[in-house]
Amino acid sequence: MKYVTFAEQGTGTPRVGVLDAAAETVAPLPADSVPEGLLSVVDRDIAGEPPAATEAPVKVADVRLLAPLPRPRHDLVCVGKNYAEHATEFARSGRDATGSGPDVPTAPIFFTKAPSTVVGPDDIVDPHLDLTDALDYEAEIAVIIGRGGRGIRPEDAMDHVWGYTLVNDVTARDLQERHKQWFLGKSLDTFCPMGPWAVTADEVDLTGTWLECRVNGELRQRACTTDLIFDVPTLVATLSAGITLAPGDVIATGTPAGVALGFDPPRYLVPGDVVEVSATGLGVLRNTIGEGRR
Ligand code: MG
Repeated sequence: MKYVTFAEQGTGTPRVGVLDAAAETVAPLPADSVPEGLLSVVDRDIAGEPPAATEAPVKVADVRLLAPLPRPRHDLVCVGKNYAEHATEFARSGRDATGSGPDVPTAPIFFTKAPSTVVGPDDIVDPHLDLTDALDYEAEIAVIIGRGGRGIRPEDAMDHVWGYTLVNDVTARDLQERHKQWFLGKSLDTFCPMGPWAVTADEVDLTGTWLECRVNGELRQRACTTDLIFDVPTLVATLSAGITLAPGDVIATGTPAGVALGFDPPRYLVPGDVVEVSATGLGVLRNTIGEGRR
């Protein structure tokens, strides 16, 4: 199943619906059956009581898509340097000030992004020109946790994955370097475009999901999920060893090589650039870099 969070024309009230990607329609779920939007869908799926659409489908073109989880319950957990070639390009750039050791990590590197970073498909990304001149993109596949828990074993981890979506882990490389820790440079407002939809885990094959990023139509990143250094079960097991995961928690799994800082000279984003993150079965997440303030 594919779900979207959307607002009907003329209203700002978010609703959730079941997406028919081929027909380009969305069947709205009754608002009172999912009071917390997609989070309620996840909760109801865990309870074995999935909500049913009762209204006539509307055209996707007639609504405004929002992030599937416009305001996650917790910080989004992200994974640094989880594709080997990206780990190498990051080390070569000289901007990795975390002192995290070897270029290719031997244990997952976790950091978080604030929930307030999340924006939806087609939303404008604020370039924060008064704070950074090294704006970068990171195409990522994000896991949405279903049943929560602590001490989840790798062999059980996929039973705790509700589904997936796409994110762009937008990053201010100069802030990331200056502050020696990644939260600030990755948590500025609008720095986490998410969407365009969320898809349940049964529809995703992580042995053959290709992730791509284009900037102004030019292919910059391309990798398969089989290239992940630490796979989803390892990430879920490592995180949950001492942290209780909750339904709706988001784990962004890392970005492949080809980010702006990997080029010599770097090809950082500028106002007007259009960034498209896409993956097999997960749609295209398209955002424009805004004009910002200086
Ligand atoms: Mg990232």
